[in-house]
Parts: sequence; C-alpha cells; structure tokens
Amino acid sequence: MIKYKSREEIEIMRESAQLVSKTLGMLAPEIKPGVTPLHLDKLAYDFIKDHGGEPGFLGMYDFPNTLCTSINEQVVHGIPTDNALKEGDVISVDCGVFMNGYYGDHAYTFEVGEVSPEVKALLDATKESLYKGIEQTCVGKRIGDIGYAIQKYTEDRGYGVVRELVGHGLGKVMHEDPQVPNYGRQGRGKKIQEGLVIAIEPMINLGTHRVKQLPDGWNIVTADGKVSAHFEHDVAVVDGKPEILSTFDYIYEALGLPKDVVVA
Ligand code: MG
Ligand code: MG
Repeated sequence: MIKYKSREEIEIMRESAQLVSKTLGMLAPEIKPGVTPLHLDKLAYDFIKDHGGEPGFLGMYDFPNTLCTSINEQVVHGIPTDNALKEGDVISVDCGVFMNGYYGDHAYTFEVGEVSPEVKALLDATKESLYKGIEQTCVGKRIGDIGYAIQKYTEDRGYGVVRELVGHGLGKVMHEDPQVPNYGRQGRGKKIQEGLVIAIEPMINLGTHRVKQLPDGWNIVTADGKVSAHFEHDVAVVDGKPEILSTFDYIYEALGLPKDVVVA
C-alpha cells in the first residue's frame, strides 16, 4: 500500500534528503586514488551522527556499514573494503539517513581521477536518465512512464538497464510501495498522486543489462564485468509536479562543477 505524505511530512523528509546530500558533498573531495572505501564509510558515519541523523543502511537487513560503495563492475550494495581506489575507477556511493522519523536515500557515481571517455559518457547518460524519469513524476502520469523514460534514454545510447533492482517509495520505512523500475511501458502501472514520495535510482550498465550476485550475499556485479553507474534522487509530488528533495549541488560545489539544469 502506498503511504502518501502530507506537506508537513514532505518538509521533514526534505531535511533527511538534504543531510544525505550533504554527506555525499562532504565525501566528494575525499574520493581520489589511494583512498579506501572503508575510510569514506567512517567519514560518512561521523558526519551523519554529528548532524543529528542515524546512518540509514547500518544494520538494515544486517548490512554492516553506513555506505554502499560499488566500484566499476559492481552495480550496487557493495560493502566498503580497505582496497584503495585507483586512478580511472568509478565508485557509486549510496547513502541512507534516518532523521526525525523519516529516511533519505541518495546515490552518486564518482570518478576517481580521470576516467575513460566511454565511462564518462555512461555516467552522464545515467544521471540524465534520472532527470528524464523525474520529469514524468507528475499527477496524470503512471509509474510505468518513469521507467519508460529512463529505459528509452539509456537504451537508445546502447546501455543496459538493470532489471533486478528498482527504485521505491520512501518514508518512515526505507523501502515502501510502490516499486519504481527503471524500465517500463508508457501509461502502465500505478497512477502518480499528490503526496507520493519515491526514490528514483537508475542503475545502468555499459554493456549487458544482466547482473549476478556475489557469494557474500550483497554485492551485485555486471554479468560481463563492464562498468555500471547509479544515481538516485528523492522526489515528492507537490502541486501535481515533481519536487526533488535531495540535491547533487553539494557535490558540485565541492568539486567546482556546474550544477544540473533541472527542469522539474
Ligand atoms: Mg534507494
Ligand atoms: Mg540508495
């Protein structure tokens, strides 16, 4: 059952989404060759605690850390290790925060030093597809319209859309109804209504869409070993239109990058 949120709840959720956005912004300048994911995890844990939140992933389904750090062919749910990042890697950092009774959930794929043009193009397209999905998050549309927009944009560029993992409703629970697949058909699925809050999170592969799970029970990797990207925003439907509660702006400020042009 979908739990639609009041304006007051959405304002509280904005704070959770902003804290997780600030956490990724704090991490952004730390992500460079030689740094370990476990170090990033410790920084994130301390930052969230210092700002009045609780790490949202830690202990959830027995996950052992604050961050999911998924490197190169790892799609999502990577457990932070002490293996140092290398020049040319990408690292998808997914972070959850629980604060004032509500979750924030946000992810960004970072470049470690210089990445290849092919990988850079994948990252750009994955992020752009997220905004294509957000554009569809309006009263009058359906959940399938979101997935269709993401799938169309990325498959037109030759990329693979992961099927096994999806976006989701967000609220007092990290994973609420509805599921929000990154593929779909126009005009299909649940109607989008005022007060819907969802995490939209395309997971897009350079090669095949197929993935496999590693024996640790967490790590999901691409079946062909090619790079995967993951970007996630928290989006509320307010006055019939999408409002993005999270932001990549803290990352861009930290890295001196231009902000996204958000149409929503
Ligand atoms: Mg999520
Ligand atoms: Mg997430």
